[in-house]
Amino acid sequence: MFRVYLSLIFLLALVSCKHESNVRTYKTRRVIILVIDGPRYSETWGDSSHAFIPMRYGLLNEGVMVSNFRNNGVTFTNPGHTAICTGVYDAIANNGSELPHFPSLLQMYVERYGYPSYATLIASKDKLHILSNTSLPAYYNQFQCYKDCGVNGNGTGGYRADTITYLNVMAQLNSGVPRLMVVNFKEPDTYGHLADSLAYLNAIKRTDQYVADIYQLIQTHPDYKDQTTLIVTNDHGRHTKGWLDGYVSHGDNCEGCRHIELFAISPDFKKNTVINKNYEQIDIAPTVAELLGLRMKYGHGKVMWDLFLPQ
Ligand SMILES: [Zn+2]
Ligand SMILES: [Zn+2]
Repeated sequence: MFRVYLSLIFLLALVSCKHESNVRTYKTRRVIILVIDGPRYSETWGDSSHAFIPMRYGLLNEGVMVSNFRNNGVTFTNPGHTAICTGVYDAIANNGSELPHFPSLLQMYVERYGYPSYATLIASKDKLHILSNTSLPAYYNQFQCYKDCGVNGNGTGGYRADTITYLNVMAQLNSGVPRLMVVNFKEPDTYGHLADSLAYLNAIKRTDQYVADIYQLIQTHPDYKDQTTLIVTNDHGRHTKGWLDGYVSHGDNCEGCRHIELFAISPDFKKNTVINKNYEQIDIAPTVAELLGLRMKYGHGKVMWDLFLPQ
């Protein structure tokens, strides 16, 4: 009888703990952030035919898209990627000479979980090596992730083709090692600056195929399937049609530069859903931190709760 009472008390204690703690639990164990450099929203989700992102559009029934997602900071590559990874709009130099002033998700992940190779940065642009470090003294040269950026892989040598970045991403994912991965594909931006409209649109299509291939790998790999959140976004858009040189350049406050995409597939997010609420670049880091149990001590953004399934 005494044992029965004890079990009953234990059971009641468990129930009340669960009721009071209100801690959310997630299926997500791994996160991949794909940053496609510089396509304009009017050529991605803003185009009603979705002609250049047919694969993403087809995947919408698996995912969630935010239709008013913005870069509200500096609309260049390094500041844009920094906002995504640190949750802070940080007007750092765009040439790779300046580190973010606050640590990124990558450093936070290595600090929290202790294994450098679990956090991975793979970028076509060498100058994005800065995302693995910060000038903040407490984190400077600490908690460094695995890094593969640019021609020489170490943040030097210039930009490399996205095909190399793509193959390296697939190899890393096949290894099953990365838990948090940040990727930069550069070519929509590159061909935009070259004023080659056909190559610019083809680059958007090619990176769309990369998204589909990466998602397919995730869903066929036992270490990633049904426990991985995939986020697709941009560092910046490009000038609105009719403003300055249009799709060729970017960097100001125009709608084309600010309005970017946010598409995500996650076991913890809604499916087949378009969200019209305003969210912005600095909201990605706190949302990923929420999924992975990290604390973004320095981030200014907010968790994008509207993306989440109710618990
Ligand atoms: Zn650019
Ligand atoms: Zn602009």
